[in-house]
Amino acid sequence: MHDNKNIACKDYYDYINCPLCQSRSSVRLYSFDYKKIYFEFPFVLVRCKDCGFIYNRNRLKTEQLNKLYNTDYYVIDPKGLEKRLWFPAVEDYLNKIRPLEEKISGRNFLDIGCGMGFLLKICRDNGWTVKGVDVSATAVEYAGKNLGIKVEPGRMEDVDFGENKFNLICALDLLEHLEQPLKFIELCYELLEKNGILVMETPNAGSIYKKITGKFWVGFNPYHIQIFSPGTLGKLVRQSKFEIFDFYTTYNDIFAKRNLWRWFSSQAYLKNVFSKLWQLKRRAMKDEIYSDISRLDTSYGNLEKNFNLKNMTEGRDSLIAKKLWGDQLVIFLIKK
Ligand SMILES: [Zn+2]
Repeated sequence: MHDNKNIACKDYYDYINCPLCQSRSSVRLYSFDYKKIYFEFPFVLVRCKDCGFIYNRNRLKTEQLNKLYNTDYYVIDPKGLEKRLWFPAVEDYLNKIRPLEEKISGRNFLDIGCGMGFLLKICRDNGWTVKGVDVSATAVEYAGKNLGIKVEPGRMEDVDFGENKFNLICALDLLEHLEQPLKFIELCYELLEKNGILVMETPNAGSIYKKITGKFWVGFNPYHIQIFSPGTLGKLVRQSKFEIFDFYTTYNDIFAKRNLWRWFSSQAYLKNVFSKLWQLKRRAMKDEIYSDISRLDTSYGNLEKNFNLKNMTEGRDSLIAKKLWGDQLVIFLIKK
């Protein structure tokens, strides 16, 4: 993907202090080999000695980081996506959005890092005024062409929102990608109406699955330049003006099919076999026509009829949930 030759390390990387407490002292946790996208240097995650935050220390410079999202970051494969991602995602979306509708008065919604715009589509079909932002040109194009949703290309700080204020902002799987997470939260605060809500979801460094699978944990990948735990996410939020309204973890059921699958597929040998099979499957699907999500009726009544929503509060009562040990942290912040 990149031209690896003749790259001087210092030209492409910054060695940063802890983004949460600015401490310079850290211990090395993991070193990953992401040669395909990260040049020839290892991607190193460290733990801050002072606050425990896990972050990538030899960080690519902004310009290089942006390049990572320009290519095939969003693998557009709606045919497979429909079952693998779309169905569970709908359940997840409804889980987050629907309970909020009673709590907020307006219906002005902003999705940051909205990808191909599926959440925007659900909200628009149910009466919200929607706006999306995403760094991936491929995703922006998909949302416009297939869903008729105009997504602003770029990063949130590049977009001119004018006088526009929102009642709800979602940033799902975004925080772990951002160079300045606090600045991001503060921007969201400014863009919200009074009593507006910011929902964020991010991988959980305190996940029990991370303890089990170690380096093979699903939360580790070259795009995740920091990983929050309940403690460090709490610390970040306390530096802002927001109040915490709800805080939980998802994917709590260790015996659920997808978690067993993750665990098995994290084992080196099986991982190899699965990834080969996956490549073959992808190749086979390559020439097939994309299914058209834009034709799906995503009004609430229809979604509830067609999707299995009995797991809507998945794992909220389990021990793993109580201890915040699930794979993903979900936090709801309110602007008082
Ligand atoms: Zn720190």
